Amino acid sequence: MTPVSFGKRIGDGTTEAVDRLARVGQAKELDAMLADVDRALEKLDEGTYGFCDRCGRMIPDERLEARPWSARCVDCSALS
Ligand SMILES: [Zn+2]
Repeated sequence: MTPVSFGKRIGDGTTEAVDRLARVGQAKELDAMLADVDRALEKLDEGTYGFCDRCGRMIPDERLEARPWSARCVDCSALS
């Protein structure tokens, strides 16, 4: 094992750790999104897709286009 390759391995390990941390962060966001997507699919089944879970008003098209898995209107999601 030469010092050069040892140094390279340290560098690789650090990059790997940073990658892993970044992935964990993304996974948490993904979890939250998947829960929302599940809820949106339920709403499709219920026939309430596009209507706010909380106040029952229609969710604006712009919001559904930006976040098709939205289960609440902008006002209500700000409340939770
Ligand atoms: Zn609402």
